[in-house]
Amino acid sequence: MEPQVELSPALVDNYVALLLSPYGRNVAIVDPAEAEPVIRHLRERYLQPVAIFNTHHHPDHTGGNRELQKAYDLPVYGAAEDRDRIPGLTHPMYEGDRVTPAGLDREGVVWDIPGHTHTHIAFVFPEDGLLFAGDTLFVAGCGRLFEGTAAQMEASLSRLASLPDSTRVYCGHEYTLKNLRFARAVEPENEAVREKLAWAEGVRARGEPTLPSTIGEEKRTNPFLRVRKPEVQAAALRRGASGADPAAVFAAIRAWRDRF
Ligand SMILES: [Zn+2]
Repeated sequence: MEPQVELSPALVDNYVALLLSPYGRNVAIVDPAEAEPVIRHLRERYLQPVAIFNTHHHPDHTGGNRELQKAYDLPVYGAAEDRDRIPGLTHPMYEGDRVTPAGLDREGVVWDIPGHTHTHIAFVFPEDGLLFAGDTLFVAGCGRLFEGTAAQMEASLSRLASLPDSTRVYCGHEYTLKNLRFARAVEPENEAVREKLAWAEGVRARGEPTLPSTIGEEKRTNPFLRVRKPEVQAAALRRGASGADPAAVFAAIRAWRDRF
């Protein structure tokens, strides 16, 4: 299969994903943290950008919007409610809206997945088996709760987990090693976590990205997708969870991760 996505590292630990058109050199730019490394990547690979997708408004996901728009005259897709927070937004999106920029020849759909921010969205490409999860779902982790509640974030992650296991997951940051070390602390007996940590240590030692993951792998290794598992519930209760329901378990695990 032809590669569908290229990654352009930016800032300290951000990834800008470039989603390629099936047979051409056109790309959609997902969450441009900054413009300069993206423009360099586009030129080196002879890629033509046709759109910007923003999962949420944080500057390390939108910082390159203006400069890229100036250089390439690009439409910007983001949550309608973020119209005052996303620079250059041209295509305000709502839950369920189709994402079909001219020249990309792929069809995405917008999912509302609040929690990290109130207005965080995912770009889901069902036919291609691709998910752009921004700062909601990380490899073996999830984003901090800046604007939403634990219940909202848990519901958003559960929704993402309902995608087919083979769905490839792209996210906004390289936090994998720390996330897997935390996952091991939550579930010391989880063999899949130990195996993935050993793999990730090798990958990072070579300076390579640990992305993409898959929904199937995340269901086996990500404590935030495993809040219904007895082992994770027990660990959360030992850390002061107010109950064993998914939101309470999630809240306790998230608070623990914040201090980890
Ligand atoms: Zn963010």
